[in-house]
Amino acid sequence: MRDVIIIGAGLAGLSAALYLGRSKRDTLLIHSSRSMAKWEPQVENYLGFPEGISGSALLDHGMIQVAKYGVETVEDEIQSLRTRGETFRIKGTRQTYDAKRVLLATGLTHLPPDIPGVKQCLGTSLFFCKDCDAHRLQGKRIAIMGRNNEAVDYALGMLMFTSCVTLVTSGGELVWDEEHAQWLEEYHIPVRQENVVTLNHTEGRLESIEFVRGEPTKADAIFTTRGDVPHSTLAEGVGASLDNEGQIIVDAYLRTTVPGLYAAGCVTAANCQMIIAAGQGAAGGQAINRDLFESSLRQHALPCWRTDDRSDEGPRSTRTLKCSIIPLPVDTAI
Ligand SMILES: Cc1cc2nc3c(=O)[nH]c(=O)nc-3n(C[C@H](O)[C@H](O)[C@H](O)COP(=O)(O)OP(=O)(O)OC[C@H]3O[C@@H](n4cnc5c(N)ncnc54)[C@H](O)[C@@H]3O)c2cc1C
Repeated sequence: MRDVIIIGAGLAGLSAALYLGRSKRDTLLIHSSRSMAKWEPQVENYLGFPEGISGSALLDHGMIQVAKYGVETVEDEIQSLRTRGETFRIKGTRQTYDAKRVLLATGLTHLPPDIPGVKQCLGTSLFFCKDCDAHRLQGKRIAIMGRNNEAVDYALGMLMFTSCVTLVTSGGELVWDEEHAQWLEEYHIPVRQENVVTLNHTEGRLESIEFVRGEPTKADAIFTTRGDVPHSTLAEGVGASLDNEGQIIVDAYLRTTVPGLYAAGCVTAANCQMIIAAGQGAAGGQAINRDLFESSLRQHALPCWRTDDRSDEGPRSTRTLKCSIIPLPVDTAI
């Protein structure tokens, strides 16, 4: 029975693990090695790295850092999560695990469009996030793929970075509203409605977008807003509430609606950014530590140090005893 099991070793899970390891909690970090952070070769918006750092390097550093504080890590794909009284049972493809508290940091998957060239361009010239990537694309030719209000907002938002923005709907019904349609006109944003057949690129660097009809559109980068799939089935299976986008509902302490179950990072409604996921993970780790501390107080189960360790030289042993069987002398200062 672990104090805490964290499922997911992206930015949120690692950050929670760091806080819990440093709080001396028996913590196990389980992950399936699929953090989205690996898709980003050059993270420029994570504070503390003025020259940027790759997402993989951030994860590698995190793994080393949490191991330093005694957090154990295993690779496994978790299939189910159930409550057993006040504890949790977690079944993976390799093993079954038990824990007093669980933190879900399982992230989400951005759904890229199913078009030839997308896979190669992903992370190099095909992006999902304006805050992550627009700044480095100033003055470039940018295409936005989508046909709803969000796609129009993305296209308009890009005008802060470049004058050359095209909206690519790739067929299907246009679902932006009248106000958004007017903005497109007001800011002269061209809209290509033909189906996209391929992204032409060299080693992942986009050159043009080819359509079923008409001339290709030259572009250096494309953003897609097609949709996110939060990895919230474990939470759903144990009865935690989700919002209407499938994200796990949490309060300010990252508590889900199931007692003892916490969630952090992109699987919640947090804006999906690395530093935000890391911040949420830290807050979740702190909240779990506090929760376990309060539970120890209720159960009279905090460590109680031997009185002979209170010498001038400091503690000589790390042995702990039950406080109730060694009453302190009346004049002992605590
Ligand atoms: C192409 C691309 C570029 C990006 N660029 C940036 C950027 O420049 N800056 C930025 O701030 N953000 C960027 N992001 C977003 C960033 O990657 C996420 O915000 C961040 O990774 C979220 O962290 P997380 O811990 O919530 O989830 P993730 O990092 O995705 O981690 C999820 C973890 O859960 C595990 N997991 C999921 N389900 C299970 C299961 N059933 N069993 C076991 N393990 C499981 C996974 O293996 C993984 O370890 C980018 C994303 C993409 C796709």
